[in-house]
Amino acid sequence: MTSENVDNVEIVVVGDGGVGKSCLTLRFVCDEFREEYNPTLEEAFRTQTVIDKKACQIDIVDTAGQEEFQVLRDTHLTVGDGFLIVYSITNQNSFQFVSKLRGQIHRARSSEDVPFVLVGNKSDLEDSRDVSTEDGKQLAKDWGNVKFFETSAKTGKNTKEAFQECVKEIRKHRQPKNE
Ligand code: GDP
Ligand code: MG
Repeated sequence: MTSENVDNVEIVVVGDGGVGKSCLTLRFVCDEFREEYNPTLEEAFRTQTVIDKKACQIDIVDTAGQEEFQVLRDTHLTVGDGFLIVYSITNQNSFQFVSKLRGQIHRARSSEDVPFVLVGNKSDLEDSRDVSTEDGKQLAKDWGNVKFFETSAKTGKNTKEAFQECVKEIRKHRQPKNE
């Protein structure tokens, strides 16, 4: 995959502990779901796909260990081409946390021009919903109309779409801007 016709993008998956970052990554990369939870495991994956008829090599960094509100290590934030910023629809705290994360990413990069996709995961747990779809949509709008998905890593709903949209945002961001 060294042809000029292949994009190489790095997506960093961020969000509070337990929201489903690892499960979303696993669903996208392997189309699997696992119940077990390892809050400390940070992993990188590489996968290839075709989006809008163009081949793409996607590196995904599944981050871990942000539970204590510590500032993320800068490497996570500065190397990424785009971010999947994830909360759980069953956890209001995780929803509050995404705004903090976004601020940290902007500060780490000294720029607000960063491709984001906002993701409300665990949409299969409707009975335990703690964040309304409207609130998610509104936040995405407040962030400058970033793309927003409610996903389920468990059923696979919208998972592919969220990652693919992130690639599309990265591509848009790479296009030369008109003066
Ligand atoms: P992370 O800390 O953000 O990486 O969270 P994990 O991906 O490890 O998931 C934390 C827990 O939530 C695990 O027990 C998963 O099985 C569960 N989980 C993750 N995604 C979903 C989902 O979409 N639906 C349901 N029902 N459970 C999920
Ligand atoms: Mg994890």
